[in-house]
Order: sequence, then C-alpha cells, then structure tokens
Amino acid sequence: MHGQMMAMPLTIHSLIDHGARYHGDTEIVSVETDGSKAKTTWKGISDRARQLGSALTKLGLFKGDRVATIAWNNARHLECYFGISCGGMVCHTINPRLFPEQLVYIINHAEDRVIFFDKTFLPIIEGIREKLTTVDTFVLMSERDEQAASKIPGLVFYEDFLAAGDENADWMDVDETDASSLCYTSGTTGNPKGVLYSHRSTVLHSLGAALPDTLNFSAREVMMPVVPMFHVNAWGVPYAAAMVGAKLVLPGPGLDGDSLARLIDDERVTVALGVPTIWQGLLASLDKLGSKAESLTRTVVGGSACPPSMIAEFREKYGTEVVHAWGMTETSPLGTANALLERHAGMTEEEQAKVRESQGRPPYGVELKIVDDEGNTLPEDGAAQGNLRIRGHWVVDSYFGAKADTTLESDGWFETGDVASIDADGFMTIRDRSKDIIKSGGEWISTVELESIAVGHPDIADAAAIAAKHEKWDERPVLIAVRAQGTNLTEKELIAFFSDKVAKWQIPDAVVFVEELPRNATGKVLKNKLRGAYGDVLLA
Ligand code: ADP
Repeated sequence: MHGQMMAMPLTIHSLIDHGARYHGDTEIVSVETDGSKAKTTWKGISDRARQLGSALTKLGLFKGDRVATIAWNNARHLECYFGISCGGMVCHTINPRLFPEQLVYIINHAEDRVIFFDKTFLPIIEGIREKLTTVDTFVLMSERDEQAASKIPGLVFYEDFLAAGDENADWMDVDETDASSLCYTSGTTGNPKGVLYSHRSTVLHSLGAALPDTLNFSAREVMMPVVPMFHVNAWGVPYAAAMVGAKLVLPGPGLDGDSLARLIDDERVTVALGVPTIWQGLLASLDKLGSKAESLTRTVVGGSACPPSMIAEFREKYGTEVVHAWGMTETSPLGTANALLERHAGMTEEEQAKVRESQGRPPYGVELKIVDDEGNTLPEDGAAQGNLRIRGHWVVDSYFGAKADTTLESDGWFETGDVASIDADGFMTIRDRSKDIIKSGGEWISTVELESIAVGHPDIADAAAIAAKHEKWDERPVLIAVRAQGTNLTEKELIAFFSDKVAKWQIPDAVVFVEELPRNATGKVLKNKLRGAYGDVLLA
C-alpha cells in the first residue's frame, strides 16, 4: 500500500524558491573581483537566476547540458549556481588552480557548452581556449571590457547575456534525480574524476548539513563560505543558506587574513567555513589588527585535519567554537561533523577538548564503517584502524562517464582512501590517507598526528610528516617543517618537543626545514612530491 501524502520533488528550485519567498529581503553581500562590495538579496538572486536560466535556453541549450563556471565566491557565481541548475542544466564548477592541461581535460570530458568566468581568469581562458572542443560561448562575468573582447573572439558580457533572458520565466521542470551540478576531484594521481550531483542529493545534503548537530544553520546566521564555490560547491553552503534563509557573505578574491578579519567585523559574520590554512592567516591578522571577532560564534574547519592548537586558540582568545568536519568531493562533501553529546556535558573542559579534536560523527543520511584489507568490518572501539568506507543519500554512486560498477566496492560502499578509527559513539578520527600512512616495522604511524603536534610548536608555521625508506624498519617518519618567521628552532629541539606527546617509536627520525610545502589545487600538501624529494634521507 502506498502512503497518501504529496510527493513534491526534492529539487534545487525548492531551495531558491523558499529563500526568495520567505527570506526575500535577506542580504547577500558580495566582494567583487575588483575588491568593491555589492549587496543584493535572496529575491534579487532568484530573479536574476531565472533570467540566466531562460537565457541559456534561448541560447539553444537543453536539459542536462553542462555549463561551466570559473569564478570566485560572489553574487554572480551564486546566480549561476541557481540559474544553471534550475534552468535544467548542470553547473560545472571549475577550480582555476588546476594546471592548464587538467583544465582542458575536464572541460572536454564534461563537454561544457558555455563557460562563465571572472575577469581574474581571463588569461587562463585565453591560454586554453583553442584546445576546448565543445565550448561555443564564453561569458565574462563583469561589465563590458573591450580589451577582454579583443582577446576572446565572440566574448559575451554577463549583463548582456542576462538581458536576453526573462526574469519571470518558469524554471525548467526536472526530476529530483536529474543531474544538477558537477565537480571534479583534484586528481593528485591520474586524471581528475567527475562527481555528478543530483537535485535530490543536494537537497538532502542541505538538510543534513543544516541540522543542529551538524553545522547548525539558521535564519539568524550570517554565513561566510571562505571555502571556494569551485571546491565541492563551497561545501554546499549556498544551497543550505537558501534553505534556511541566512544572510550570506561571499568574500570574493580576498582570502588573506586581513581582508577576512575586516569582513567578519563589518558584516557581523557568525559562522565562517574553510580549510585550516585559511584560518592560520585569519588568526594572525586578528592578532595584528587587535580584532576580537566578536560576532564569530564558530568556524567550520575541514579539508585537512584541524590542529588541536588551532581549536584552542579560537576558543581561548576569541570565544569561537571550531566545528571540525570531514568530507570529500565524492560525499557532497559532508561526511562527519563534531558536536558533543549529552553525555559529554559533565566532562571537564580538557576532556571535552579531546572529544572536539576528532572529525566528528555522521549526521542522519550517511553511514561509516572501517574495514581491513580483506574488507572485513573492524570494531568501533576507538583503537582499531582501518580503511574508511561510507554510504549515504549524498555519496557518489559512479563517477561521471565511468563504466558502471567501477566506483563502489563489492559491498556497495564507497572506499574513501582514508584510514580511520571510530569509537563507540560513532566519533571518527582520520589517521591518514592510506597512501600516506607510515608503516614502521609492521606498526602504523599517523602523519596527521605528527603534523598536529609539530604545528602546535609556536616556532613552526607548517609541517608535513612523510614515510622515509629505512633499512631496518622499512619506513620511518621524517618531518618536513617550515619555521615561523624570524625563528630559529633546531632539528634537535623540534624532535625533543615530541618526547612527551607520542610513543617513543613514533617520534620522527629526522627533520628537514624548508621554505614552503608544495600543495595541490585544493590546498592539500603533495606528499608524493615530498616523498620523492626526501624519501631517501635516512638511507646511508
Ligand atoms: P575536500 O577537501 O573538499 O574535503 P577532497 O575530495 O578534495 O575534498 O578531499 C577529501 C580528502 O580530504 C579526504 O579523503 C581526507 O583525506 C581529507 N580531509 C577532509 N577533511 C578532513 C579532516 N577534517 N581531517 C583530515 N583529513 C580531511
């Protein structure tokens, strides 16, 4: 027997329609590419998104066609997010930090028909344009610019493009399972892989993200996604913000600490989201500018492990709570977020701080397990470490364009490539990427843990631990470290710093000081590169 309730489709249309109808005059603040600040509202975004969707149809695009964006976090990009997806097309957000060959690969692989891009990225487009086989329309997301027009034949300007559309047009009808957006993984090894989100997965992800124990979004919030809109849909913040009707602050290209600190104070940001390196910059600037970031109740930190020292600094100096979260492009991205349980209430501050360090627990909608190399499920006792697998409403089923049944494991779960432990309450701790973990004489050493300790030293600005080849133990930890400006810590002093923090056999054998760590397009340290350069330092 069927239930007899309305079955309204879970589409991105429903998110923006709600935002526009019930929170129509809530502000969207946008830092433009030239650094100026513009303001609009959810109603304003919705009207222009309709116009954009209708203009795409008039251009001759069909449902499911891919439309690319290469843009900062700003209002135009937000209009593209909703206009493209609700216009029936697929919004393919592109990371401008990829190498030109990778950009060409993904644009041709996605078969993008149109590219919207911010002026900053004009040189990129100029450089790759002739190698793009499917794009017939380039739209510059700025005012008319004759110089730009001279570089890209047939260049269209954003306002002209929009003017061709109708702001009263109906959205395109779609099924909830239709594709809505596309994001490629950064592809440290091999070609990037496309993850094709659906309307349904996006709506369910927004609901899961907004829950109190996840990121706790509401209409009383001023949300600032510092995580780029070209990186897993800014962790889904634009959609969730429309769903709850929050004020959004889009920081544009100014991601340095000073710009963010000022924006937080000027716009009274209550929750900001981003990777740990961004917050390092912010913390340094708050100190320098003497700001107390009074409005900022919390930061959501993910993408790489958040060092405990950072959680402590936010809390003790600014009263800002860090919500440590974990996820991947393949999981939309939210997999876990750290919120304490009722049973933690009676604990001491110190005990609570320990719980907050983990990547947290899954919200309703996703499930985790850890398995050994044969796929046997391991105990969730906080000690056993294994390969982390995930399944859920917003987890990839198969990569875009991949052969069926090649993405998931035989048990129907997605293997994350991370090594983790899970405790009895479901709190998950990432120990490492499986390809990075150090296997020393049959025992595993977590590079994440060693790095967290190293950056907890006041004289260390950045650090990565790698597996170096060792004659007796196969592999031993070596720390590649960046000194804080104006400091002169020695190798011996840094190694001594570990002595009361990990077991003796886990202490790094050596430290190599460098000026800077190599990172990929999403800001993750390129450990394969470091292993190539320093993997032999312990051999005679
Ligand atoms: P994103 O960086 O947006 O989360 P990616 O797909 O680029 O997504 O990278 C996902 C990987 O990043 C995860 O598999 C994991 O190794 C790492 N990661 C993400 N969040 C954390 C975290 N909080 N702690 C440790 N590692 C993390």
